Amino acid sequence: MSPHGTTSRYTQGCRCDLCRPAHAKYVREWKRGRSMLTVEAGPYRAILLSIARQTRVPMSEIAATCGLPAGTVRELMNGKRRRIWMRTAVRIGDATKLLPGSP
Ligand SMILES: [Zn+2]
Repeated sequence: MSPHGTTSRYTQGCRCDLCRPAHAKYVREWKRGRSMLTVEAGPYRAILLSIARQTRVPMSEIAATCGLPAGTVRELMNGKRRRIWMRTAVRIGDATKLLPGSP
């Protein structure tokens, strides 16, 4: 058993006055860390829509160019995703090479 006042003891079922705040703090920090690893999806949705409109490249091909699952790109373009992982955002940036006039 982990000592009291740790999130691992909490996950082992303890809800004492030491473990509850420890776990709450852990969750809070985890959420903050996660929000730093994600970005607003809006601008990337705009990039994808603009590529699709300008190039008429099918969504599946845009996804392949980015190296992303087609489902992810579809959800993003449908506006179903509010935030995306930073690494997904970087890959969407790669898709701009489909645009005419890019090097
Ligand atoms: Zn405890």
